[in-house]
Amino acid sequence: EKINICSFMNSIFQKMKPAFKSKGVKLEFTCKTEAVVDIDPTRFEQILLNLLDNSLKYSEMNSLTQIEITNENNFVNIIVKDQGIGIPDEDLPYIFDRLYRVEKSRSRLTGGYGLGLSIVKEIVGAHGGNITVESQLNKGTCFKITLKGFYDDNNFVNR
Ligand code: ATP
Ligand code: MG
Repeated sequence: EKINICSFMNSIFQKMKPAFKSKGVKLEFTCKTEAVVDIDPTRFEQILLNLLDNSLKYSEMNSLTQIEITNENNFVNIIVKDQGIGIPDEDLPYIFDRLYRVEKSRSRLTGGYGLGLSIVKEIVGAHGGNITVESQLNKGTCFKITLKGFYDDNNFVNR
């Protein structure tokens, strides 16, 4: 299904706002493309809710989480960037594995099964997309999803 990525992400942003507000974490949304993407909206929403749920879970009060949409050549980037506790380098290669959680002691308080990111990776892959992560311990984490982008007329973003 061809969907305008900005309006789609804006509705997810609106949906997540109250949860961030109640924990005192700032949530920002910026969209810098007119692109359309070919996605299953229900499943794709699950991805964003998982990423944002993690950002919220692993962030402190007064920090900032940013959702940013950009386009590069024929691709759209969906970026979720937080100022949370970060992920140690040695754990980064495994965070997309099923049931993997970084050092149970620090995750115990927040709960969860270590399933969220494995589902994210699977759905992104099913859409022919890619997901990467960069993180710095005690500084924050940035997830970037890359998908093929189109304009409404089915042409690529860069005509
Ligand atoms: P579930 O999603 O099943 O409720 P979970 O959040 O622990 O549980 P994942 O979403 O798969 O599992 O994430 C795996 C691990 O990666 C987490 O346990 C956490 O340690 C780390 N992680 C994921 N996202 C972030 C983030 N934004 N900041 C810090 N650590 C993160
Ligand atoms: Mg999770």
